[in-house]
Amino acid sequence: MNIILFGPPGAGKGTQAIQIAKKFNLHKISTGDMLRDEIKNNTDLGIKIKSRMDGGNLVSDEIIMNLVNNILGNKKYSNSLIFDGCPRNLIQAEELDSLLIKYNQKISLVFNIDVNKDIVIKRILGRIICTNCGLTFNKMLEPASIDNHECDKKYLKKRSDDNEKVIASRFETYVAQTLPLLQYYTNQKILKKIDGTGQICEINAKIASIMASLETWHFKLYSYK
Ligand code: AMP
Repeated sequence: MNIILFGPPGAGKGTQAIQIAKKFNLHKISTGDMLRDEIKNNTDLGIKIKSRMDGGNLVSDEIIMNLVNNILGNKKYSNSLIFDGCPRNLIQAEELDSLLIKYNQKISLVFNIDVNKDIVIKRILGRIICTNCGLTFNKMLEPASIDNHECDKKYLKKRSDDNEKVIASRFETYVAQTLPLLQYYTNQKILKKIDGTGQICEINAKIASIMASLETWHFKLYSYK
């Protein structure tokens, strides 16, 4: 199944996506990670998008949907994707739906990880990412340690857009452009709201149990045919 993790920056989409991907044998597609890789590798695309990302603005829909098209068109990932950070606006959501039809796939569920602005700011200001394995930690809430992280400490870095000024702009962009998508997915009857204020494992358990019930349901439907 394909699912979307929806929520403001700092909601914990990336962390949840990694854990859910492992549990359900899915592949995480994070447009933010893909764009950061382009910047890290100093590609033409990376050079083009750096200032928009550093300013907390969205990158063009054309660039994003090209990246998404490449993944969706790859049979290896067919019907096994977790979208983290995409779609970010109505145009992307509609184009994603067209691509899904083209590749004979669908989105089964959209999880809206619900957290308020104060929590988001606290989480983002403490956020540290391992540039080697991609795991996310939090200096205050969940520090990296030998119990939860295997890579060398030198890989632990702050994201360049994780500062107070850019957070404000990213949150505004979210409210203005991304939040309206809730109605889009409510209309498709695939939206599930998840309280995103608890512990990572609690949020994970809620998402996993909804997904598991859907998988069981699909299985029953299939075996009764
Ligand atoms: P994220 O890692 O999802 O927080 O994204 C970091 C930044 O990458 C965003 O602030 C945007 O500049 C850019 N970005 C990521 N995904 C998208 C998207 N779907 N559409 C436009 N810009 C994006």
